[in-house]
Amino acid sequence: AALIRFEDVTKTYADGTVAVGGLELEVREHELLTLVGPSGSGKSTLLRMVNRLVEPTAGRVTLDGQDVMSQDPVLLRRGIGYVIQDVGLFPHRTVAQNIATVPGLLGWDRHRTQDRVRELLQLVGLDPAVHGPRYPHELSGGQRQRVGVARALAANPRVMLMDEPFGAVDPEGRRALQVEFRRIHDELGTTVLLVTHDIDEAILLGDRVAVFSQGGRLEQVDTPVRVLTR
Ligand code: ADP
Ligand code: ADP
Repeated sequence: AALIRFEDVTKTYADGTVAVGGLELEVREHELLTLVGPSGSGKSTLLRMVNRLVEPTAGRVTLDGQDVMSQDPVLLRRGIGYVIQDVGLFPHRTVAQNIATVPGLLGWDRHRTQDRVRELLQLVGLDPAVHGPRYPHELSGGQRQRVGVARALAANPRVMLMDEPFGAVDPEGRRALQVEFRRIHDELGTTVLLVTHDIDEAILLGDRVAVFSQGGRLEQVDTPVRVLTR
């Protein structure tokens, strides 16, 4: 069943740029949908309409059948993890504190939080005892990106929005991270929308792949094999 629906969605920015045009797209519950296309083809705009960072000019985006624009943005975002390229960890907090201070975990008692932080660090392939007490600048780019993923997963979101999540990671580290993330997705079954300009990444990771062109037009949405053979 569809968890997220884009119903004839258009986004025109103030300067007249049509970033997304007449988009019809369904995202199924538990799927990992990759969005691929050249820079400027509206992928980030599309993603940001799900968590209300961008408001559609026309049409609507629904989550569970409800227009996201009619929902309280704070509550809406609590159920939606968001990972961007340069992950934006707090520099003066340790890795563990960065994860422990997400809104979803506020109000948890210390032991429960500690257990959850450990579990999340292990899930993304980090060692809680080694990496938990470090500061972000003491990690590699790939490790920081893993922390970003762990932090986004902390509140157990139903949906993960990922915008070039592995873009800043060096090529050797990137493949490992992609494979690891695919494994995490298989384990948790979170519904994921992942934006990339790298067709190999889109094919490797996606249950389905949505291909965009300039002007935010959806050219094709299909399984990786069908996208490859078209
Ligand atoms: P992608 O993620 O595929 O690179 P974007 O969604 O970032 O595409 O951008 C789509 C188009 O919208 C581009 O032409 C971009 O320059 C434009 N755009 C994005 N954000 C804004 C903004 N805040 N104001 C005006 N134009 C924007
Ligand atoms: P504060 O002094 O502000 O409580 P702490 O460094 O003690 O900061 O920890 C902040 C949060 O991170 C706490 O909820 C703690 O349980 C968790 N935490 C700290 N270090 C670790 C670690 N190595 N592994 C797991 N959780 C940790």
